Amino acid sequence: MKKLVCAGEILVEIMAERIGQSFLAPGPLVGPFPSGAPAIFIDQAARLGQPAGLIAAVGDDDFGHLNIERLRADGADISAIKVHRGAATGTAFVTYEADGSRHFVYNIKQSAAGLIEIGAEARALLAGADHFHVMGTSLFSPEVIEVARNGIEAVKARGGTVSFDPNIRKEMLDLPGMRDALHFVLSKTDVFLPSGPELFIFAKATDEESAVREMLGRGISTVVVKKGADGAVHYDQTGRTASPGFAVDEIDPTGAGDCFAAAFVSFWLRGATAEKALSIANGCGALAVTKKGPMEGIASLAAVEAFIKTAKTGAP
Ligand code: ADP
Repeated sequence: MKKLVCAGEILVEIMAERIGQSFLAPGPLVGPFPSGAPAIFIDQAARLGQPAGLIAAVGDDDFGHLNIERLRADGADISAIKVHRGAATGTAFVTYEADGSRHFVYNIKQSAAGLIEIGAEARALLAGADHFHVMGTSLFSPEVIEVARNGIEAVKARGGTVSFDPNIRKEMLDLPGMRDALHFVLSKTDVFLPSGPELFIFAKATDEESAVREMLGRGISTVVVKKGADGAVHYDQTGRTASPGFAVDEIDPTGAGDCFAAAFVSFWLRGATAEKALSIANGCGALAVTKKGPMEGIASLAAVEAFIKTAKTGAP
C-alpha cells in the first residue's frame, strides 16, 4: 500500500469547558487533547490502515509524549518526530461562542513545533514515501515552508503525488514568503482540498464551477470542495460528483477537515471511485465532530464502514 507523509505542527488543545466562557477570567478547562492539523491527518490515515508518517517536533514534556503515544498506538510512523529537550510542545487554548465561532490562543511558532527540520530520520521517511500532504496551517515560518518544499520535491522526484489542504486564514496571506510558498505548493498539487470559501483565495472566478475549472486548468487532477455538514463535491476532468454529509450532532468541529482529507487521500491512493472515497471521507469527517477534542472522534476503517451502513444523510 502507498505510504503518505505530512510535516508540521504537533500541539495539545485545551478548551474552555463552557460555551461563552472567556479567557479574560479563570474558569474550568478540559484537555489536554492531542492536536495539530498534520498530526490529526496522519492519525486518521493510520487508523484507516494507510501507511502514514509525520515529520514534526515536540518538547520533552508530557504534552509531547501524549501526542507521540497516541500516534504510535494508532499505527502511525513516528520515526521522524524529534523530541527536543529545552523546548516546550506547542499549545492551543480554545473558547467557543454560542454562535459556533471559536477563539484561539496559540503558542506554535515559539514552541518546539517551530524547530521542525529535515534531519536524517525525516530524509529516511521521505525516501519511502509515495505521497506528501501539505497543510496551509503548517506554512507558518520560512523554516517550515522549507520543510514542505523538501517534502514535495523528495516525493515528486520518486514519481509520487501531492495533496494540499489550504486551511488558511486570510491574515496568513501577508506573512513573509507565504504567497510564493502557496504558488509553489499549488503548482505541484495533484489533489486540492479547499473548503468552500478558500477556493476563492486561489481562483479569480467568483462561482465554484469556474473556480474549480481554473484549478483543473493549472494541472491539478482532482479538486474536492469541503462543505461542512453538507458533505463535499469532487471534480476532475471527467466531471462532478456530489456526496451529502452524514447527519450527526456536532459537539466540536475542530479536526473534521483533516480527518476528511486523510480519508479522501487514502482512498484516492488506493484507486477508489470518487463516490467511495467521498463516502468514507464524509463518514470520517462526521464522526470527527461528534467528540470533544480534535483527535477523539477519529474512527478505524471498520468503525466508519459500520457507521456509513446505518447513518442518514442530511441535517440531524
Ligand atoms: P474544514 O474543517 O476544513 O473547514 P469542513 O468544515 O467542510 O472542513 O468539514 C470537513 C468535512 O467534515 C465535511 O466535508 C463533512 O464531510 C464533515 N463534517 C464537518 N462538519 C460536519 C457536521 N456538522 N456534520 C456532518 N459532517 C460534517
